[in-house]
Amino acid sequence: MDETVNRALFDFIEASPTAFHAVAVMKRELDLAGYRQLLEGKDWRLLPGGGYYVIRNGSALIAFRIPEGAWNGFQIVASHDDSPAFKIKENPEKAEGPYVKLNVEKYGGMPYASWLDRPLSVAGRVLYREGGRIRTRLVRVERDLVLIPSLAIHINKEVNKGFSCQVQKELLPLYGEKTEPGSFAEQIAEAAGLPAGGILGSDLYLYNRQKGSVWGREGEFISIGRLDDLQCVYASLRGFLEAKEGRSLPVHCVFDNEEVGSSTKQGAGSPFLRDTLLRICEGLSDSPAGYRRRLASSFMVSADNAHGLHPNYPEKSCPTNRPLLNGGVVLKYSASQRYTTDGAAAAIFGEICKRAGVPVQTYANHSDIAGGSTLGHISSGQVACNCADIGLAELAMHSSYETAGAKDTAYLISAARAFYESSVVESGYGEYKLL
Ligand code: ZN
Repeated sequence: MDETVNRALFDFIEASPTAFHAVAVMKRELDLAGYRQLLEGKDWRLLPGGGYYVIRNGSALIAFRIPEGAWNGFQIVASHDDSPAFKIKENPEKAEGPYVKLNVEKYGGMPYASWLDRPLSVAGRVLYREGGRIRTRLVRVERDLVLIPSLAIHINKEVNKGFSCQVQKELLPLYGEKTEPGSFAEQIAEAAGLPAGGILGSDLYLYNRQKGSVWGREGEFISIGRLDDLQCVYASLRGFLEAKEGRSLPVHCVFDNEEVGSSTKQGAGSPFLRDTLLRICEGLSDSPAGYRRRLASSFMVSADNAHGLHPNYPEKSCPTNRPLLNGGVVLKYSASQRYTTDGAAAAIFGEICKRAGVPVQTYANHSDIAGGSTLGHISSGQVACNCADIGLAELAMHSSYETAGAKDTAYLISAARAFYESSVVESGYGEYKLL
């Protein structure tokens, strides 16, 4: 069971080197399952029993299903499909003697060493002209293309005493020898099936070519790039597609740009989710107060991976809330509300996991280490309902090759399915009915 789930997870992640690709993979799955794409610029005709999805910028996606019967509120799982990487700058070729490097800048925060001395390639989207229109196409160079070589220890004797480096000086990937300016654009055009000079604009990133691996004495662990947060995206999609109709409207929401602050039109700080929920209510001819009433009986799960207890750095974890790989779904807490879980959200989500037979563990930052943040509290500014921050325990978060537990993806799929089948009704002050 876990083996099949992990293979399918690897397939999903390997097909998704960028957020654009992740959305294309989800679109394909939703099309196959009979969902219909809605365009933000057109009117929406929604019918009970119908499944729909809407895409913004090609890199964020919201899918939902209209129940046949009466429903109370929205059950939303929100995750993100972007991961830390290096973005290719415009005019990228940079000569250095006989070498040609590519000029890049960082996207998000990451341990740089994890990108050194391994085969990398390039993927993203390009825009081109066809007839009288500007169109978009995904592109991916399907071979080892570039590499960022480290400096040999013989001429960098201090390297094992601490690693620090500057992107502009030390992290430009080696691309070739004596390459003409413009040859990179030509190569990308060819990979995209476009004529030389045909690219009008692009968003291109380096990606790690290393495949997913199941490893450990008993195959306890899995490793692959972009587990944060494609593991949660995948589990949310599976749970969403497998869930049976309940008394709520299920919403699978995937934002872009979490790694750079979420303040973009396709990020959690945008009104993308609120706009979509409002249009669902309008499309179903809800009364003007309907949206707000339904929001009181809605629940959002912000699903983004959590730091597991590290075998070599136990002192970096909170002494009493240190999730383990293979320990089940993690509820994430923070007094500053950087993680949104509070007592009410923990009680409700904990009950849903119990129904699903999924173990729950807890995470809090070490009290003297600031730690991270995620999209739940940002999205709450747009869509204010009960919200829990959850995730799966992982090691080496934001490395180009991350590690998690082999059992945990299946746990999150079960929890997401049970969540989407539930309905959380506010039945009084501080009182909730779980249907
Ligand atoms: Zn994340």
